[in-house]
Amino acid sequence: MKEIIEADNELKEEILKKFSPKREASELLAASYERLGYESKYERVNGCGTFLEFRQPVSDNDKKWRLHSANFCRDRLCPLCSMRRTYKIFGQISQIMNVIEDKYAFIFLTLTVPNCDAETLYKTLNNMQEGFRKFIKYKQIKRAVKGNFKSFEITRNKKNGTYHPHIHDILAVNKNYFNSRDYIKRDDWLKMWQKAMKNPSITQVDVRKCKSKGNKEGEAAAKSLRSAVAEVAKYSVKSVDYLIPNDPVLTDDIVFTLSAALNGKRLCSFSGVFEEGRKKLKLDDFENGDLIHIDNERLRSDVAYMIRRYSWSCGAYKLTEQKIETSVEIELIESEDI
Ligand SMILES: [Zn+2]
Repeated sequence: MKEIIEADNELKEEILKKFSPKREASELLAASYERLGYESKYERVNGCGTFLEFRQPVSDNDKKWRLHSANFCRDRLCPLCSMRRTYKIFGQISQIMNVIEDKYAFIFLTLTVPNCDAETLYKTLNNMQEGFRKFIKYKQIKRAVKGNFKSFEITRNKKNGTYHPHIHDILAVNKNYFNSRDYIKRDDWLKMWQKAMKNPSITQVDVRKCKSKGNKEGEAAAKSLRSAVAEVAKYSVKSVDYLIPNDPVLTDDIVFTLSAALNGKRLCSFSGVFEEGRKKLKLDDFENGDLIHIDNERLRSDVAYMIRRYSWSCGAYKLTEQKIETSVEIELIESEDI
């Protein structure tokens, strides 16, 4: 009984504190798309997450509500979809690192360039993608780095309206890297990034060692690893940077800039041992893949489920249906969905 109440409260909290605020923000984005005349984007985002279905096995000890079905729009800037994508990326990298951490140590690298304005953001992102491709192939880096997970983040300076694109990168290196001749000093990382970007005015490269779990500061190490993963997995662009309350003109201006700059770009990627780990775990693509079953866990179909369906109306999620279904009914529902 206690577990059931806890699971119920957890679900209510999740809807109220996670889904609802993001869905509200999605409405602001939809309104901006509508003003900008992006009709199909408006329709997709406006209808995003208006339906959520959660399931919980009746007989299992595992009393956890899991999202089973939803109508997500997958728009790059959609706050609701970005939240799902972030959880998914976080989950995937954590799983991969669990698999490969016995063999490798990890470095957390942040590569920046000087801020740019709205007009040059698209080009700057292209240059950074090109620059990173060169950078990662430099002999010294190739020798030391066994794989990486890279993600772009773009923040906006509220005071002067400039954009700050940067790359977060988790690099897998051999365990003995820090005491080996492969070790790369901070200045060398910076010099190579300047060279790859053909820009000597770059002054910032942040490089940190993620402590591994194996050492005596176990707990602190695990925390340091988790926070590094959280940093790379977070939204490419935070919605507070482009959905400006009570300022539709500025909001539209930024939304216009960002949707043009991000159009068709792949913002996260795996390589080397990260990619191998991903394949081994059979993880799907987080940019184009499933945003519903993000924890890679599927519900079994041979038990009965409690089902709760929520709909978004008048600015809040409302419970519209609650029932128990057996496996036979579930099969029917699933075939109808298809
Ligand atoms: Zn969405």
